[in-house]
Amino acid sequence: MEMKIGVIKGDGIGPEIVDEAMKVLDKTAEVYGHSIAYTQLLMGGASIDVNGVPLTDETLKAAKESDAVLMGSIGGDAKTSPWYQLEPSKRPEAGLLALRKGLNLFANLRPAVLYEDLKGACPLKEEIADSGFDMMIMRELTGGLYFGKRSTEEVNGVLTARDELTYNENEIRRIAKRAFDIAMKRRKKVTSVDKANVLDSSRLWRKVVEEVAADYPEVTLEHMLVDNCAMQLVKDPAQFDVILTENMFGDILSDEASMVTGSIGMLASASLNETKFGLYEPSGGSAPDIAGKGIANPIATILSAAMMLRYSFDLDKEADAIEKAVSEVLSKGCRTIDIMAEGKTQIGTKEMGDRICECIR
Ligand code: NAD
Repeated sequence: MEMKIGVIKGDGIGPEIVDEAMKVLDKTAEVYGHSIAYTQLLMGGASIDVNGVPLTDETLKAAKESDAVLMGSIGGDAKTSPWYQLEPSKRPEAGLLALRKGLNLFANLRPAVLYEDLKGACPLKEEIADSGFDMMIMRELTGGLYFGKRSTEEVNGVLTARDELTYNENEIRRIAKRAFDIAMKRRKKVTSVDKANVLDSSRLWRKVVEEVAADYPEVTLEHMLVDNCAMQLVKDPAQFDVILTENMFGDILSDEASMVTGSIGMLASASLNETKFGLYEPSGGSAPDIAGKGIANPIATILSAAMMLRYSFDLDKEADAIEKAVSEVLSKGCRTIDIMAEGKTQIGTKEMGDRICECIR
């Protein structure tokens, strides 16, 4: 297969971790007989330095013309970087928001996996961590409370704020389909999370999800109230496969789920639109405190590249090979500084990329 991949290396540790992900992609393409054409794109602080703005129309156009985009993180130290002297609409993060909007990325996917060899980093009780977990949180990204009308006004002399939560059935249907498609590639279970005992938007969510489920007879669907889900994530995370939820619930639950894995350098993510296109990036930031030191953990970006192969290119075997290689390197005791533990071997960013490449087969 020929893949056209846009690459946004980004700021801070971005270029270091993206280089390793490209190395792993190249090795995987070589082993499995694919070819990759990369287009380098500037976004965030790196684009401000060259173009004066965090995202140009040309970059957005080039991103749209790619099959998928692999991205490092963007942004700098808010206290010291000159990028943060600019007005908010010209800062690095504005570029990311404009890119997500311009690409119509409505579905955010964040896996939370507890690796056998990193169980020690899990903050949950040992007997819970021992069962391990491997879940995917699918969060609606462009609707709901964060995009509704809002106002603050005085009503009868009392300051009153209002935020509107709106979903229509089409917005729910398109993300529900995405969640069921992804469950078909996994353990075939969807937990749809809502607050249907209180909210109308949740009752519509439940109704539409059930309609979509009828087209996926192999997938088990369960509904769970969001407050219960927040508890279950720390009580019995092994029960979850795909969690499907709306924007604000997903914002909170995906952070909770990733924190129970215990290590930010391991967290991949993807944002998808209605086509096969996706933007793949680590969940963490640009870590300006360790940029340029060659010590950042590239695994989140490498796992994001594996997600790209799986979800944008349907290359499941190749994605499995990358994920297995990561597990193998961890089981050999190799660790970057953020996941270092007693008795393990500390290695740098490049060496971690090299070790993972050696295990691709
Ligand atoms: P951060 O995630 O960059 O860093 C938090 C801590 O985690 C730091 O100590 C950092 O060294 C460590 N860390 C993060 N990724 C790591 C990795 N791969 N390996 C080892 N250690 C790692 O969060 P922050 O310091 O709050 O933000 C820094 C910048 O990143 C800000 O400009 C912020 O706006 C931006 N940011 C960008 C994105 C994105 O591009 N999607 C996401 C979050 C934050």
